[in-house]
This record gives sequence, structure tokens and C-alpha cells, in this order.
Amino acid sequence: MSTLVSPELEQQAIGWRRHLHANPELSFEEVETSRFVEETLGSFDGLEIGRPTPTSVVATLRGARPGRVLALRADMDALPIQEETGLEFASTRAGVMHACGHDGHTAMLLGAAKVLAGRRDELAGELRFLFQHAEETPPGGARELVAAGVMDGVDLVVGAHLASLKPVGTIGVPVGPMAAAADIFTAEVRGEGGHAAAPHKALDPVVVAAQVVTNLQHLVSRTVDPIASAVVSVTLFHAGTAGNVIPEAVQLGGTVRTFDPEIRRSVRVGMERIFRGITEAHGATFTLDYQEGYNAVVNDPAAAELVAAAARAELGDAAMIEVEPIMGGEDFSAYLEKAPGAFFWVGAGHEDAIPHHHPRFTIDEAALRSGIAVFVRTALDYLA
Ligand SMILES: [Zn+2]
Ligand SMILES: [Zn+2]
Repeated sequence: MSTLVSPELEQQAIGWRRHLHANPELSFEEVETSRFVEETLGSFDGLEIGRPTPTSVVATLRGARPGRVLALRADMDALPIQEETGLEFASTRAGVMHACGHDGHTAMLLGAAKVLAGRRDELAGELRFLFQHAEETPPGGARELVAAGVMDGVDLVVGAHLASLKPVGTIGVPVGPMAAAADIFTAEVRGEGGHAAAPHKALDPVVVAAQVVTNLQHLVSRTVDPIASAVVSVTLFHAGTAGNVIPEAVQLGGTVRTFDPEIRRSVRVGMERIFRGITEAHGATFTLDYQEGYNAVVNDPAAAELVAAAARAELGDAAMIEVEPIMGGEDFSAYLEKAPGAFFWVGAGHEDAIPHHHPRFTIDEAALRSGIAVFVRTALDYLA
């Protein structure tokens, strides 16, 4: 087991995490959270602390000698969920909960900053600790931090996410794609309303929109390479007010998830073609609003190997697990547009573990120790 993280520091990290857990804040509203992070960082030696946006914090640690620049990132926001865990440090804010583990991410990066601030003499180069706001809500905080210049001069960026469904003590570092591009769309199919007993005098948008939904399923099954992957999910289909009235219009919505930029583009183009073709065929009209969300997170092979080697060195070969890419989105991708990097999973599972974004989501806090150790060893190795 890693000796980089003392029992005292582990207890401190758990304390930070519990404080944050009890006081969650939504995306772009991390006022108390960022103040807490700034104050805690201020109690460590030798950090230069900045506020690139109102609710984010970036701390810089300059090593004893010149060298490369490594950025380490944690996200800090919570979700609009009413907590039901019954924990003694459960959320004190109605309808807001750290149900994705970002409280743990913040505590892990604070812990890593404390250890590394104490080992400044061993570092050649510069460390930048990115405490990011608003990961859960597009357009996301990462983009704003990049625009504020936090990635200027950075050679490598590393981030982590707790995983409640992976055993505590494990680490997963995928090579290549690991989180999908997550786009959303809303649409309207317009016909002409009328009496349900006289459909020939109306233009029923329900049957047209139903055809659109059916045809959208052809995009993935018939136009995407079966070895590659994509998801098109229509999750909203709203129309009508009465059993004897043909409505004027149908509102649709859903999400598109892809890894490959070319597939992402072709699905989007195909979606417009299907809406146009089907509505035209039946004399209806449509509007389609397609919003590009976070880009896919694709780990650089060399960066992934650096992190995996650090994890093996600190936690042993048995800690390493294979992890499949997820179709969820993660705005860490915004940093990867500026520098290569890697995003890794920190197993935080226990017997009664429940998925993220659930009112009874919890983590095994022993995971924090593993996450800190991997961050610290990665930094020590990269800036050796
Ligand atoms: Zn989340
Ligand atoms: Zn998350």
C-alpha cells in the first residue's frame, strides 16, 4: 500500500469530503465550495492561488527546477437531487446533493496538493491544480477555465472520477476513448389539427412524428460501423390534449452519444435528412434544434501509461482493472483539446453500492487514499 498518503492526511481528506458533502452547491453556484477550497489551499506552503472564474480555483506550485507543466483537475459541483442516504454528514441543502462524487474529487486533489506542496524540492517544472466548477451542466466549467488561460503552457493534463460500481482500491485507466460526446436535440413536427373522426381534413403530426422516431433507429443500426458505437435515444414525445382531437404538433427530444467525430457528424446530418424526408413525404413541417454537448474524452496512450504505471507502483498490479468506455459525457474533454492527457477511474464501490446520480449514492471513502496516491505519484514521476 502506498506510503505517500499518511493516515493523518487520509483522515483530513475524509473530513474535507464530508464538509463538502454536507454543503453541496449546484453548477455555477459553487460560492462556498470555492471559498473553502481557496482557504484550504492557502493553509499549504508555497502555492500561488488564483480565481479564473467566480466559482473556480487554480493553484500553481513551482518546482525547485524548471521543467514541464502538469495540470491536475477536480470538479466541485453537485446535482439537483434530494439526498436519501441518511448519512450523518448528509446534505444540509434541500434538493441539492453530491450524488456524483465531486466532493470526493475535490478532497482528493486537495490532498494531492498538500502532499506535493511538501515535496516541492523533488519537482522539476510546474504543477497546476484545477478546481473546476460546473461539470454537470453544459456548456460546463472546463471550457470557461480553458478560455481563462489555465491550460496555457500545459504539457499534460490528468483528471479522475470516483466509480461507485467498481471495487474500492481499484484503478482503471482506459487507453483511447473513455467517455462519449454527449449531444442533445429538441424538435417539433407540425401538421394541422382537427377532429379525430375526420383525419382526412387534418394533417396528423402524431403518425408523422412516429415515423420519424422509427426511422431515426436506422441511423445507428444501418449507417454506423457495427464495430464503432453510437446511441440515438428519443426520450421525449409530447402531443395532444384529448382523445377526439388531432393535435397541431408533436414535441420531440433526446440525445446522441458518439466517440468518433466523423460518426458524430454523420449522425447529425442523417438526423436532419430523416426529419426533412419524412415530414416532406407527408406534407408536414419540422424544426430541429441540435446542441453539441461535451466532446468525447479520449485518453492519450502515453499519458494513460504514465498514470497506470503510477497506480501500479503505489497500489500494486492487482489494483488495476479493465474499464469499458462509457456513453456518459464528461467535460474533461475541453482540456484535452489543449494538451494530451488521461482521465482515470478510482473504484469506490462497497456492498450496497448504488449508481451515480441517485438519491442514495454513496462511496467507500477509502477510495480517496487511492486517488491521492495516484495523483501524487503521477506528478512526482512526470516532473522528476
Ligand atoms: Zn455526474
Ligand atoms: Zn461526475
